This record gives sequence, structure tokens and C-alpha cells, in this order.
Amino acid sequence: MSQKLNEFKKYLKEMNQYSRVSTLLSWDMYTLTPKAGFQGMADALTYFSTKQFLMSTSDELMELLEALSAPEEFDQLDETMQFTVSRMKRDMEKNRRIPADFFEAFSQEKSASQQAWEEAKRSSDFSVFAPHLEKLIAMTIQQCEYTDPGKEVYDVLLDQFEEGMDSATIDQLFEELKKGLLPLLNKILAAPQPDSSILAGHYPASEQKKVQALLLDYIGFSMDAGAVGESAHPFTSGFSRNDVRITNHYYENNPISAMFSAIHEGGHGIFAQNVNPAFEGTAADDCMYMGIHESQSRFFENILGRNKNFWLPIYDKVQALLPDLAQVSPDDFWREINHVQNSLIRTEADEVTYCFHIILRYEMEQAIFRDHVPVNELPALWNRKMQEYLQITPANDADGILQDMHWSDASFGYFPSYLLGNIYDGMFLEEVEKELGPVDQLLADGRIQEITKWLNRNIHWYGSTRLPKEVIEKVCGREASAQPLLNYFTKKYTAIYQLVMD
Ligand code: ZN
Repeated sequence: MSQKLNEFKKYLKEMNQYSRVSTLLSWDMYTLTPKAGFQGMADALTYFSTKQFLMSTSDELMELLEALSAPEEFDQLDETMQFTVSRMKRDMEKNRRIPADFFEAFSQEKSASQQAWEEAKRSSDFSVFAPHLEKLIAMTIQQCEYTDPGKEVYDVLLDQFEEGMDSATIDQLFEELKKGLLPLLNKILAAPQPDSSILAGHYPASEQKKVQALLLDYIGFSMDAGAVGESAHPFTSGFSRNDVRITNHYYENNPISAMFSAIHEGGHGIFAQNVNPAFEGTAADDCMYMGIHESQSRFFENILGRNKNFWLPIYDKVQALLPDLAQVSPDDFWREINHVQNSLIRTEADEVTYCFHIILRYEMEQAIFRDHVPVNELPALWNRKMQEYLQITPANDADGILQDMHWSDASFGYFPSYLLGNIYDGMFLEEVEKELGPVDQLLADGRIQEITKWLNRNIHWYGSTRLPKEVIEKVCGREASAQPLLNYFTKKYTAIYQLVMD
């Protein structure tokens, strides 16, 4: 191994230690840190992530990356190292243009803003969050001007979460979906609805945790390399393929929320646990494209988890753990987990109306970064769009514009990933069925892990080495399209709601 490669690997290892500490701190902040201790943890996180940032932009690293990029060195590297060197060199060139004091100030503002958002949401008072949001928007624009001068800001943001999926492509996919979905949604909403009160009951958190363990094992999340914590909003945090943490939140009057959060976060976790082990500690590890990541969590959550046959092999065990479900037949349960209704909260929405929750947020972000709509006008704009797409107006901002945490840490451009994930899922479903046969049958036969292995083999294994468009091309042999998702919705909901199609 060349001297430079040795030095680079050593440097990378040290950077990874900082990154591990940052991940651990933020995991802790959202699971166990008491309110009074939050600021101390936030300061430590700023300290370590700034160190990590300085290491990722240092002269020493630049010198190493330049040496390894020279053709005689580069050609000797294996593919993983070639990917890592090119990727880090590109990112470094961008990040070196960000002044370190700006990076630190932005990092501090994100922590302050998250706290303000929590307070604003608790008191349903947008004015508490507004000055922070204004600052975050300005700093985000400033950061894009440093990293990608002259480029459209919102495209830079989208690219950070789903590289290569620009707004022209997303506009086209979302438009295709919207056009096909609105008439279907209207038919569903006009049909007789199931009676949600059948799920009324008491579901102790301790028993919900047992159901969660059952579900995670069933879909293929390994507890030898995984752990589950508790937080206000479920999330996944990966340290390496050998240590993937997910969180959940339990409502004792609602058994469904934690089940589907477990399946969703478990799907993210399965991805992280099944990346090629040779990628460990390199830029190829896990997957940095959030649309592709969300496609996996949402494949488990929706395509599999909301299929009646997913539940057939395990439903009696779930009922045994949650006795208040004893009176709910598999059929009634299935209707309830596919109950389509216009509602206020994205994370509680069914898979059909969910699409409109995302389209709304995508348009809001365009309003912020393209049309520069002032922050104080955003709540009213949100409410108008809710009325337009979901015929419902939030009574307060906590149930409206303040419901999601994404903007509180400046994750602008993340939301479209969820819907891109759904759109990819329609395409992946077609491919799974071509190769393995009907998913309905596989699930009924208790062969769900064959589907998990298919996803491991075709998607998870490659970590970050394939860009989103390449994943779609390699797995599906064509460009992204919303049509397969529309076909899936139409077939499924025509059956559930006994719709007459024209
Ligand atoms: Zn997710």
C-alpha cells in the first residue's frame, strides 16, 4: 500500500471518531438527556462537529486527496477508495469555502432554533420560532452561496439530500402523481369509511414494546447489531453496520402508531445493517441519499406493512400481546391501517393523502427559497395549501406549520425525499414481483425475509456508491416514473373501498 494511502486511511479513521462522538451526542440528546442538560450536550455537539468539519477541510487532507487523485495513485486504489477519494475531494472543495466561524455560528443557531421550535410547538405560537426560522433561512442561503456560488439555492438543497434529482425532475414526477391521484382520492373519500372506534382501548407501552420486538425480528432487523430507544419523534441513527439505533414513541390509546414507526425505522435500520462490509468507515458506507433511504423504510412500512397478508402469519401473536385487539378481526385491522382520510398531521397520515402532505411542503420550500415569501406570511400560506389539497384548515400552528422538526435544524430540501421514496417503491414492487412472484403470496406464506434479502442484494449492499438515478436504472432498467405507484394505489384501494373504476 502506498505511503499516501496509509496516511489517508489513518486520517479517515480519526475523522470517523469525531463523527461517532457527534452521532452519539445527538442520539443521546433526543433519547435520554434531561431538559436542563440539553444545552451542555448541544455545546459538546457543536464542539465535536466543528472539529470534524475542520478536519474535513484541512490543508493536510487536501494535500492527501490531491496526491491520491493523481492518475498513477488513483488507478492503484480499489473501487471503494476511488469513490471515497473523489467524493471527499469534491465535498472538501465546496466546504473549504465555508468560513469556520460561519460553520460554528450556523451550528449554534440550529441548536437554539430546535429549542425554540419545541417551545413554539408546545405553546402553538409561531412567533417564538419565526425569528429563528428567518435566521436559518438566511444562513442556509449564505451557506449555498459559499459552497455553490451562482447556483439556484433550492436545487443545491435538494441535491444535498437526493443527489441528481433536481427540481425539474421532481416537478415532473410530482405533477404526474398529483394528476393521477386526485381523482382516485376523491373516489375513495366519497366511499363508505370504516369505523375507527373499533381500535379504542388501552395498549400498555410495555406490551407495545414486545410487539415492536416481534415486528423487527419478522422484517429482518438484527438486534445483535441494533438497539431501540425512546424519543418524542422516532428516528434512526447509524454508527456502523454493527450498531444501528432506532427510536420509537408509544401512545397507550393507539396501537398502530408505534407499530408502523417500528416498521419504518426498522426499514432504515435494515438498510444500514446490510451495506457491503468492505465499505465500513469510508464515504461509501450506509447511504447518503435520503430518497433512496426513505424508499426502503417506506417499502417496509407501506408496501409490506399495510398489506393484509403481512399480518396473517403474526396477527394471533400480536393479539395475544395486546388483548384489546382480540375483538378486531384481521380484516377490520387491515381496513383501519388503510383508512384514507384528510387529516392534519403528516406522520399520522395514510399512504394516499401522505403524498399531498409532501407536495405541500415541497411547494412551501419553493415559496421560501424561490419566491422569498416573508416568514410571517408562511403560516397563512400553509393553511391555504392545506385547504386546497386536503380540504381542511388547522385550528392552530402546532397542528399546522409547526408540526415537523425538519426546518428547525435547517433540513430544507429533505421533505421531497419521502415522496420520491414512495415513487421508487412503486417501481421496486414491480421488480420484486417479476423476480419473486406476487408479494401477496410471499407474505401469506410467511416468506417476507425473501423480500428483505432481495432488497439487501439489489439496493442495500451498494451503500452510497450508486446515485439515486443509477439505483433506479440498475434495479428497474428505466427512468423514474410515478406510474407504478399510481397502479399500486389504484389496484389496492379499488379493492379495499370497492370502487367502480371508469
Ligand atoms: Zn424515514
